[in-house]
Amino acid sequence: MNRACRQKALEILQSVFGYSSFRDQQEEIIAEIASGHDALVLMPTGGGKSLCYQIPALVRDGVGIVISPLIALMQDQVDALETAGVRAAYLNSTLSYEEASRIERAVLKNELDLVYIAPERLVTERCLNWLSKTKIALFAIDEAHCVSQWGHDFRPEYIQLSILHEYFPAVPRIALTATADAHTRAEILSRLKLENSRQFISSFDRPNIRYCIVEKENGRHQLLDFIQSEHPGDAGIVYCLSRKKVDEMVAFLLEHHINALPYHAGMDTQTRSVNQSRFLREEGIVMVATIAFGMGIDKPDVRFVAHLDLPKSMEGYYQETGRAGRDGNPATAWMSYGLQDVVQQRRMIDESDADPEHRRIQIGKLDALLGFCETLTCRRVRLLEYFGESAAPCGNCDTCLTPPVAKDGTKDMQKLLSTIYRVGQRFGALHVIDVLRGISSERVLQWRHNQLSTFGIGAGQSVAEWRSVLRQAVAAQYVWVDMDEYNALKLSELARPILKGEKKVLLRQYQKPEKKRKEKAQP
Ligand code: ADP
Ligand code: ZN
Repeated sequence: MNRACRQKALEILQSVFGYSSFRDQQEEIIAEIASGHDALVLMPTGGGKSLCYQIPALVRDGVGIVISPLIALMQDQVDALETAGVRAAYLNSTLSYEEASRIERAVLKNELDLVYIAPERLVTERCLNWLSKTKIALFAIDEAHCVSQWGHDFRPEYIQLSILHEYFPAVPRIALTATADAHTRAEILSRLKLENSRQFISSFDRPNIRYCIVEKENGRHQLLDFIQSEHPGDAGIVYCLSRKKVDEMVAFLLEHHINALPYHAGMDTQTRSVNQSRFLREEGIVMVATIAFGMGIDKPDVRFVAHLDLPKSMEGYYQETGRAGRDGNPATAWMSYGLQDVVQQRRMIDESDADPEHRRIQIGKLDALLGFCETLTCRRVRLLEYFGESAAPCGNCDTCLTPPVAKDGTKDMQKLLSTIYRVGQRFGALHVIDVLRGISSERVLQWRHNQLSTFGIGAGQSVAEWRSVLRQAVAAQYVWVDMDEYNALKLSELARPILKGEKKVLLRQYQKPEKKRKEKAQP
């Protein structure tokens, strides 16, 4: 792209979008597309992907066609563009035939700069026919990872997008995504026929976010402590897994004078959108939500994102925590995590009707997240490593600030594993820990587990300490929890070398939560 063209791009950035300068790679990407080349853009959520196709669409003649699977967000994007004075529209199944025809005619008359289209609509003969009569500035393929069968967002209609290259070889294409490991990236390039295009890969690091994960004792009081001590009066998002828990948390936070609002799919649309716009406009609101909330939410001053339940994957964790601190000021990603979370997530995978291959991928993704939770090293290093980046310890996450003490946990692990073995691999965590600690509960006596050789061999340690050992055993896959059998703990093949003394185990030492709770838990 020549200098005049770059100048034009900068002018558009300033006059239309109101920003003074480009971020990181934006200018290079825009130059590549505006001069008619293809590109793959890998940039984290919030990084500024939209401008990478919006500006070239304005620089070039004709209409920019944006393919996006998120129909619910098209309206918002178009509204925002129109506010900035860009002539934009969308075509999806929510429009009537007349409305859609009106937009198609406007495009033919060169009256629109950008049109968002759902992928299943784009590949219809009717649509391709219409496009063949149109002057097209570019194709932007948003959420390009949807083309990958390896990923969790696979959309069959994305596969067909390769025809764009066949039908319109002269039109530049830009594929964009925030989630793509090396495997997915390769799949995007080959399926969309982008092998010869330039790749722009941005860092996933969000240096202003401090990562912090605590062992779950009593999630809601820990959360309250966290908000009151670190973020009083700040805007934040609290993620819970279920609607019921969202409602309970809102009630609990309100009771403690925290300005909380609920958001989940079970609420009516009206209330939900009122809550959403209050969160965006008013100050210091804490939105308690299921993951349904946040797609496309662009509030720059969210000071914290808290997870009361474990997300499904590192991608999910990264995306959800990434909603904090978009303005670049310090923000916190906080999570409380316990054994129950692992059990719950594994159960959800087990009970889903996904095919075995898909389920295996989901379990792999969950395991990567568990490894991250139990890490002995810098969280940021682990997080970036997952996305294929290397980094130095950040000095700003919980494991950097208060390094967990690693200890030789071989003996403890052996005690735990042999107790699970001795009770026949038929009992859950509570019972196993009772036996370890030598507690003569009714159930222990009933099964005569007080006569086992392992009864009481772990009496010197607290329940919390044993839970921590068990959690790490599950995270490391020495132990798994059998959902079909009342959450009975079972040993995997990996337990054998430890029991035989052939393998040493390094454990994260249990640390008592720092602060005392300010009040007693409700009975
Ligand atoms: P993504 O699609 O990568 O998640 P967006 O395109 O929605 O990110 O951009 C995230 C936010 O950053 C938006 O509020 C956008 O207006 C803002 N932004 C993008 N580029 C710039 C820039 N060069 N200067 C300032 N703000 C920007
Ligand atoms: Zn760190």
